[in-house]
Amino acid sequence: MRPIVIVGASLAGLRAATAVRAAGWAGRVVLVGDEPHKPYTRPPLSKEVLDGRHTVETGAFPCEELDVEWRLGEPATALDVAARTVTIGDEAVEYETLIIATGTRARTWPGETAANVFTLRDRDDAIALKAALATAKTVAIVGAGFIGCEVASSARKLGLEVTLLDVAEQPMLALGAELGARCAALHRDHGVELRLGAPADLAALDHDVIVVALGALPNIEWLEGSGLTLDRGVVCDANLQAAPHVFAAGDVAVWPHPLADGEPIRVEHWTNAAEQGAHAGRNALAETPKPYEAVPYFWTDQYDVKIQAAGLPARAERVELIEPDVAVGVRGEHVVSVVTFNAPRKLMQYRRRLASRPRLDELVSLA
Ligand SMILES: Cc1cc2nc3c(=O)[nH]c(=O)nc-3n(C[C@H](O)[C@H](O)[C@H](O)COP(=O)(O)OP(=O)(O)OC[C@H]3O[C@@H](n4cnc5c(N)ncnc54)[C@H](O)[C@@H]3O)c2cc1C
Repeated sequence: MRPIVIVGASLAGLRAATAVRAAGWAGRVVLVGDEPHKPYTRPPLSKEVLDGRHTVETGAFPCEELDVEWRLGEPATALDVAARTVTIGDEAVEYETLIIATGTRARTWPGETAANVFTLRDRDDAIALKAALATAKTVAIVGAGFIGCEVASSARKLGLEVTLLDVAEQPMLALGAELGARCAALHRDHGVELRLGAPADLAALDHDVIVVALGALPNIEWLEGSGLTLDRGVVCDANLQAAPHVFAAGDVAVWPHPLADGEPIRVEHWTNAAEQGAHAGRNALAETPKPYEAVPYFWTDQYDVKIQAAGLPARAERVELIEPDVAVGVRGEHVVSVVTFNAPRKLMQYRRRLASRPRLDELVSLA
């Protein structure tokens, strides 16, 4: 019998493997990963690992009990949807179902860079960056998205002088300008020098360490010529299905979401990868696959503040502060996002309510 093959041995891939076993698949499951490590969780890499509270080993997911064939340290290099084969190393493996969970990688600075320039995506990156920070006094972080901001927070905890640069006028721009200004104040209050609204010139930075945090790119190059539609990720239907016998999940998946009025979205956050991986695994075995409609959610920890978001903050046309710690994003008539500051219970309540696409007055009356 052909195996279920899962490409990408990280969060979404692991959850997919766990789900196909839980759904009763008794055949082979092959889990392919190009990193040499078994799956581990990434969020601590920019937080606890960098500031010394955890080691990289702490983040390993428990998976000793999982009945899979590990193919680690070797990438899948090609897919032929028509022939139903995936190439791993030099071997073409036939699959019953393929689940693609190859995630994203850090966008690098174009051209040659010096030895003191780092990006942060995997555990080896975190080990290298942590070692460099240990002897540094100054660090520049180019890119004030959520990973850049978390690195700034960790570096300040380590006592470094931190400069945070972005071409945008505010950090965390995905949250909108109003909340971006609030994030900017948070970093200034913690002694970070912000240089915003102008492109960074790496050669002009004389900091001991430079961290390039310019976002992520989907790992889809290996799928060129496969027969799949690729557009900022692996394009799927509402059930996360990309082709007959092929599903995708996690950071790499593009799928139509009701909160985006059915427009395709891609979400680069932990909870989405976890929930979608499991969903794709269940759909892979289901007679009638179900749409994936969960309201996106993410958190980021900076200093003593936990910022959490439900929905799609980047789609909001205006932001209303309905409580000092709760900001609601509205598009047209409907609420599309809720962002909270140190209010985790409220955020979870709002996440549930967002699924029904309430108007602002409806959301507030429920509060
Ligand atoms: C430093 C950091 C901090 C983060 N913090 C937060 C946070 O606080 N909150 C939050 O919500 N999210 C956070 N995230 C995002 C979250 O970790 C990701 O959304 C999640 O890891 C996505 O999981 P994934 O399995 O889809 O993809 P990934 O974790 O990217 O895994 C994909 C795997 O596939 C492998 N791969 C790629 N191509 C191939 C191939 N051809 N063959 C075989 N293997 C391949 C990759 O090497 C990788 O191991 C953070 C991410 C990083 C990097």
